[in-house]
Amino acid sequence: MDLTLAELVTAIIVGAAGLVLFFSIVSRSLHRRAENRAVRSSAICRLCLHSFPREIPKGTVICPECSAVNDPGRDGLAG
Ligand SMILES: [Zn+2]
Repeated sequence: MDLTLAELVTAIIVGAAGLVLFFSIVSRSLHRRAENRAVRSSAICRLCLHSFPREIPKGTVICPECSAVNDPGRDGLAG
């Protein structure tokens, strides 16, 4: 089978497009994972909307700005 220049260029373009698609999916997945980790490790006060890191993954947290007690809801996030 002879490979013509047009077939080679087409294969390179299709391969490059496939690599871009693959790396964009991997990058988006890693970014979403980092966002979820940041959301899980932080809390938002239900009164003053101050965002602060939580020491305990789940449970009641006290806002360092207004000292309000924030009870995590059903989803586990305070506020
Ligand atoms: Zn607060």
